[in-house]
Amino acid sequence: MPVERTLSIIKPDATARNLTGRIIAKLEGAGLRVVAQKRVRLSREVAEGFYAVHRARPFFNDLVSFMISGPVVVQVLEGDNAIARNREVMGATDPAKAAPGTIRAEFAENIERNSVHGSDAPETAAQEIAYFFAGTEIVG
Ligand code: GDP
Repeated sequence: MPVERTLSIIKPDATARNLTGRIIAKLEGAGLRVVAQKRVRLSREVAEGFYAVHRARPFFNDLVSFMISGPVVVQVLEGDNAIARNREVMGATDPAKAAPGTIRAEFAENIERNSVHGSDAPETAAQEIAYFFAGTEIVG
C-alpha cells in the first residue's frame, strides 16, 4: 500500500459544535497521521477557488456561504492509502447514507453540513494540499 497524503477539512458545522478533537480521534484511529494543521476562517474568494469544480452545481452558493460561516480546521493527513482510508472513515456525503461508525454518520447534520471534507483522488489531493499549505508547513 502506498503512503499517501490527503487534504482534510473539519467544516464549520463541526467546529461550531466543538467536535474538532473527536473528529481527529476518529482520523487517528483509522491509521491517519496529522502532518499539518491550521484553524482558519476562509474568505469567499478562497472558498470559491477551493470548490471551483462545483461552480455549476445548484448548491454551489449555499456551499460557499456555509464554508465561510465559521472557522474550519484544514489538515494534511498521511498514511497507507490515506486518500481512500480517509474517504472510508468520513462516510458517504449524505449522512443518512453513511455507514455506522463513520464521522458523517456520527456527527454530520445533513448533506451540506457534513462535518468533513477529504480529497477524492491523488491529483486532487496534491492540488488541494498545495492550495492551503507550503511544503515547509508539512512535517511528516
Ligand atoms: P464529498 O466529496 O463527499 O464532500 O462530496 P461532493 O464533492 O459531491 O460535494 C462537496 C460538498 O458539497 C459536500 O461535502 C457537501 O458539503 C456539499 N454538497 C454535496 N451535495 C450537496 C447537495 O445535494 N446539496 C447541498 N446543499 N450540498 C451538497
